[in-house]
Amino acid sequence: MSGGGPASYWVEAAHLPGGVARRVRLAVTDGRFTCVEVGVDRQPSDVRLDGMVLPGLANAHSHAFHRALRGRTHGDGGTFWTWRQQMYAVAARLDPDAYLALARALYAEMALAGITVVGEFHYLHHGPGGVPYADPNAMGRALIQAAADAGIRLTLLDTCYLHGGLEASGHVPLDEVQTRFGDGSVDAWAERVALLADSDRVRIGVAAHSVRALSSADLARFPALRGDRPTHVHLSEQPAENRATTSFYGCSPTELLSRAGLLGPRTTVVHATHLSSADVGLLGSSGTGCCVCPSTERDLADGIGPARVLAGAGSPLCLGSDQHAVVDPFEEMRGLELHERLRTGERGRFTPAELMAAASSAGYASLGWPDGGRVEVGALADFVVVRTDTVRTAGCAPSQIGFAATATDVDRVVVGGRSVVLDGQHVLGAVGPTMAEALAALRGGFR
Ligand SMILES: [Zn+2]
Repeated sequence: MSGGGPASYWVEAAHLPGGVARRVRLAVTDGRFTCVEVGVDRQPSDVRLDGMVLPGLANAHSHAFHRALRGRTHGDGGTFWTWRQQMYAVAARLDPDAYLALARALYAEMALAGITVVGEFHYLHHGPGGVPYADPNAMGRALIQAAADAGIRLTLLDTCYLHGGLEASGHVPLDEVQTRFGDGSVDAWAERVALLADSDRVRIGVAAHSVRALSSADLARFPALRGDRPTHVHLSEQPAENRATTSFYGCSPTELLSRAGLLGPRTTVVHATHLSSADVGLLGSSGTGCCVCPSTERDLADGIGPARVLAGAGSPLCLGSDQHAVVDPFEEMRGLELHERLRTGERGRFTPAELMAAASSAGYASLGWPDGGRVEVGALADFVVVRTDTVRTAGCAPSQIGFAATATDVDRVVVGGRSVVLDGQHVLGAVGPTMAEALAALRGGFR
């Protein structure tokens, strides 16, 4: 990575917590912003940044191995559930080395797109047949190494996954592929997670996979074991989950999480697509966050969730690329608003500033980095420079650039004061060939 010592920059426009400011000077020392001056001239020692500065962007929901399915699942139609069979075929072929190679390329792709922190919802823990690796966290450590190599921050959301699903008659056992996800019990899962530790650029968070993969008894055990770690849960992505939960438990998945004591500001639910108004009330009144994944939800025909209503009820919103059908935080940012427009027939459901907060500070907070995702003195020096002179961005009002920019307009990405992307290129070199090589190693197990 280039740079790491004190540095200063000057840029024509920057998105600050109070809105877009002009003629901005930034200084960075020891990985944090030490000066943010507005309306000033460039000093001779300042690096001039071409374009506008945005805060570091957070991808709050990732399953790295799903990247292998991009552009390969559209031939035969199908459903979420047939897509999941293809995803399991990839999972069956991964080992720690193959996972490191794939995740390193994916996290580098994220850096190129302006993503400075990723929340990896990690459940592919063990070897074939569920046999633990010599290091029971070998797969998690591969992800930690991948993020370090790619130069971005990682919150490893180590995921508890104990049952193969939920039907009207109850939970079903893990199938052959799913045995790699399971630890046997919530306590055994917690013992394995306890072997992992935070570091400068890594936070260890936790996840309860879903009310399909954890029973009500498992969920009830969860709050005592998670401590104060950020906690994520898949929630009501598909109507089938709601139907099975209602049949077996007599309540909604959201109510089940509430009864288990899992809702609250440290928890983020993912998707929350199919909610009742009572569910919205439980999530909002408890301050539970919600991670919306617009590109995935449209790709898998999940539906459009009540994002605006949730935000109004008190749930902070963040964004994730989930299965990585695309990796482009601008696409997710405007997807949040554009899906609302299609659903309601109204424009301006979210302000551009709200969309930027969802893509930056709210995602950082959800992932356990409350001092990131903002360009202000004292915050982590993570930021993104987007060119304002490309065919896509020329002429845009800086405050509305999220409605026009794409990942390819990202010129520079700085994480903790270090530049990991310069002139639109990752410091590791060309990422495309690395990605192709990692994917080729996985081919054969699926069409
Ligand atoms: Zn997911």
